Amino acid sequence: LAQARVDQKAIVRDLSAGTPAFDKLTLARELTAAIANRDMFLQYQPKVHVRRQEIASAEALVRWQHPTRGLVLPGDFIPLAEEIGEIGALTLWTLERVIADQKILAADGHDLTIFINISGQLLADTAFVDSACAMVRSHGAKIGFEITETSVIRDPQVAIAHLQTFADVGITIAIDDYGAGLSSLAYLKQLPARELKIDKLFVLQLTSSHRDPLIVRSTIDLAHALEMEVTAEGVETQAALALLTVMGCDMVQGYLISRPISIDAFRQYLRDDRLKLGEDSRHSMFSRPA
Ligand code: C2E
Ligand code: MG
Ligand code: MG
Ligand code: MG
Repeated sequence: LAQARVDQKAIVRDLSAGTPAFDKLTLARELTAAIANRDMFLQYQPKVHVRRQEIASAEALVRWQHPTRGLVLPGDFIPLAEEIGEIGALTLWTLERVIADQKILAADGHDLTIFINISGQLLADTAFVDSACAMVRSHGAKIGFEITETSVIRDPQVAIAHLQTFADVGITIAIDDYGAGLSSLAYLKQLPARELKIDKLFVLQLTSSHRDPLIVRSTIDLAHALEMEVTAEGVETQAALALLTVMGCDMVQGYLISRPISIDAFRQYLRDDRLKLGEDSRHSMFSRPA
């Protein structure tokens, strides 16, 4: 009898877990098909150089246009893609798309490095490393990879060696979401990274909190001491931009400058920006000196 009761409990537990498990399986199947059918698309978010007041580079962010669920953002499918072993295929597709879009931008007269986000898992994937390097090299593409520190900490020796391989083929390495994950200064100093992106967690309340400006300023100083350029992500207000400028932050990215936009909207953005630059040689969102 006791055994029967245990079994019944197990069944109840399985049933209650059944719905999400089924959903996940369906989503996994749909995701695999979407990657194979190229149903994903990219949006681009520019990054602006504060002192030069010009567009420094852009970041590609992947989206999934689902036939019934609508627009699915990466937070809702990247972890699943990692879990089911599809992240390598998705990232290689992203790289291929970025290289094609970069050629369109080049034809418009824009020579921009485009960054893509690389999951930690892929830093241990030799087949991915080889394919990605071969693609970048054969197209002579100006590509950056954004990686998080947390992804390096899992297997630092292998990850650092692969990052060095990327750097050797001319890929710019940026540390993404700095401060939001597991940080180790011991690894930070060993990474062949040229850029450090401060997580938006510290930037969104920059002008309304006491501690965030202290953290951001000391992170900027740390990165500069390590000879890295610093980007603040999540810049939404003029006040945040003004403070970051005073603190010596090199680049900014966020809704104040632009939301992530389609390649066509990005081409338009670059055209408009050039017009603005021609008018008064100053990016419109920067306040003019009195
Ligand atoms: P991330 O690389 O840190 O990207 C920044 C995220 O912040 C993006 O969300 C972007 O839309 C959002 N964001 C940008 N500016 C602002 C702002 O001013 N305010 C606020 N509140 N948010 C802002 P998204 O596109 O949903 O991407 C989320 C994360 O998904 C990315 O974080 C990245 O880690 C991951 N991801 C995106 N595309 C890929 C990909 O192709 N491969 C992998 N492995 N991960 C990706
Ligand atoms: Mg990123
Ligand atoms: Mg980021
Ligand atoms: Mg982030």
